[in-house]
Amino acid sequence: ALPNQEFLNLNLDSSQYNAVTATDGPLLIIAGAGSGKTRVLTSRTAFLIKEQMIEPKNIMLVTFTSKSAIEMKERLIKVAGLTPQQIHSLVTGTFHSIFYKIVMHHEPYRWKSTNLLKWDYQKEKIIKEAARELTLDEKEFAFDQALQLIGYWKNTLLPPELIKPKDQWEERVLFLYRYYENRKKEYGLFDFDDMLVGCYHLFLEQPDLLKRYQERFTHFLIDEFQDINKVQYETIKLLSHTTKNLCVVGDDDQSIYAFRGSDPTFMLEFEKDYPNARIVTLSQNYRSSHMIVASANRIITRNLRRREKKMNASFNNGQAPFFFFPYNEEEEATMIVTDIKEKIKDGAAPSDFAILYRTHTASRAMFERLAQSNLPFKLEQDSDSFYNRRIVRGLLAYLHLSKDPNDTDALGHVLSSLFLKQNVMNDLKAISILEDCSMIQALEKITNIQPFQQKKLRKIVPMFSRLKSTSPITAIEMIEREMGFAEYVKKNGNEGNTIEKGSDDIRDLKVVAKKFKHVQELLDHVSHMVAMNKEMKQISKHYTDAVQLLTIHRSKGLEFKHVYIIGTVDGSIPHDFALESLRNGENEPLEEERRLLYVAMTRAEESLTISVPEMRRNKISHPSRFIKEFL
Ligand code: ATP
Ligand code: MG
Repeated sequence: ALPNQEFLNLNLDSSQYNAVTATDGPLLIIAGAGSGKTRVLTSRTAFLIKEQMIEPKNIMLVTFTSKSAIEMKERLIKVAGLTPQQIHSLVTGTFHSIFYKIVMHHEPYRWKSTNLLKWDYQKEKIIKEAARELTLDEKEFAFDQALQLIGYWKNTLLPPELIKPKDQWEERVLFLYRYYENRKKEYGLFDFDDMLVGCYHLFLEQPDLLKRYQERFTHFLIDEFQDINKVQYETIKLLSHTTKNLCVVGDDDQSIYAFRGSDPTFMLEFEKDYPNARIVTLSQNYRSSHMIVASANRIITRNLRRREKKMNASFNNGQAPFFFFPYNEEEEATMIVTDIKEKIKDGAAPSDFAILYRTHTASRAMFERLAQSNLPFKLEQDSDSFYNRRIVRGLLAYLHLSKDPNDTDALGHVLSSLFLKQNVMNDLKAISILEDCSMIQALEKITNIQPFQQKKLRKIVPMFSRLKSTSPITAIEMIEREMGFAEYVKKNGNEGNTIEKGSDDIRDLKVVAKKFKHVQELLDHVSHMVAMNKEMKQISKHYTDAVQLLTIHRSKGLEFKHVYIIGTVDGSIPHDFALESLRNGENEPLEEERRLLYVAMTRAEESLTISVPEMRRNKISHPSRFIKEFL
């Protein structure tokens, strides 16, 4: 046995041990999934504190999610025997949480947490203010994409002055960016990106303060270094300038956040900034069975832009990945729930399972099937119900309103999907009060509006009586066709995560609608599922033993005995937009999709099931082009 191992109870192989104990100077560990990179970081932290008597408060340990920070702390207490006090003074968490804790103590960045722009819609409000000045058409302009680009600029340390817009669109976004930054400053508001950018500027502007922090932090440890972005990298470079005791671990094959400004080049070119860096590779996979490692290797080596690395399995047991070929997403969900139940009967625990998907909306059927089963399951806390998506809500509003003419909320959605402004709503309210009628009745009485608007409004009421007496699927098609809803979807595009499209939402909704004969049944189902979603998020907070539903992005760094990847068809994995780029001769987005699949596959320990539905969104789908790479 290697020295110190027993005392620290670390259980490391010799390359891992070398990585843990080489504590002087910069060190880069670059290694495949499941090779113990995270374990090395935890062990190194324990080694620094217990063997080298470094004060925990001098150590900065950066994790990719706050959850993994908690897990690391638990492991440090349980396995390495650190005391809760030691853990308490250790500076650990995500870049955002660590940097925010630093800036909030110093002028001029003493932001109050209540002034945080937490959600996209809060940011969009400011952006839309600016858009009005540019007289940009609300319907035509993709605000979510603008926000994403602004975030990208901020994370790559590009203030408005430095940006050279490539085209007219970027020129407009640049205007919005400038306005957004000024407005925020004026109101004392800040967003998540500001936590990083603010910290970087704080150090640049106040050298004395920087010096104090440089003296305080003597050791840096960073997990998932392949997904670091410019502002994070530069800030760490400033902080670690004196000691250069910087240990970073990563896997370029798992770089999956390019859209947020993450750039594996910082890791691949680490030696440029740290010429005397030691580089350690780990080549033993301790997570997955032999066949899973082999398949994952086979897939990822198809990427052209990557650093070659070895990954040997430690276990010879296990089976090759399974493939499911369900008829559609409903059957897919049923097959998986049945399979999970069977494995639980054979002794597995619910927490041994994870179900992974490319985008949030792709989990709709899975969620509903699980909600009807009695399996305990966990949702991502920020995942909203599918039925609350803007486009879906907008369409359902017609159905709600046909049942309940007093549903003003629904009326609001209907009006905005008809591109009618807020003032119509106010007029309707006034009429309904003055003439003592319902808002719907008021629709017929409104006069002081443009003729084209009046024409649209006049269509609503007769529509309702027809909607009432038809099947949900026909109703949806009528709304699309006759109320110009299809056009609204096209113009109103996506929301939040820009890769999820409004038109896909409608197709997903139609899959649900087909299951019911009457509009009321569909609406009952929807309200039940919205309530379930809320309830499950509440309940599942307290579940310790539950099946996990996760996007592949969120699954990074985690591991599960049994993993299911759902919707493995072209257009989902790889995503449509990557296929689109490929048609334009751009290969990189497709490689990022392949990395996503690699991340998903390498979460599995014992079994990996890849599900390839024949139909998706009521249409024939084609198996993911990555599937043939398994052979
Ligand atoms: P990822 O790239 O997915 O983040 P990783 O390289 O960080 O993976 P870890 O999560 O640290 O890998 O380790 C993978 C699994 O292997 C964990 O369950 C860990 O406890 C286990 N493991 C790591 N090293 C050893 C070892 N020397 N002996 C036994 N098990 C090990
Ligand atoms: Mg890890």
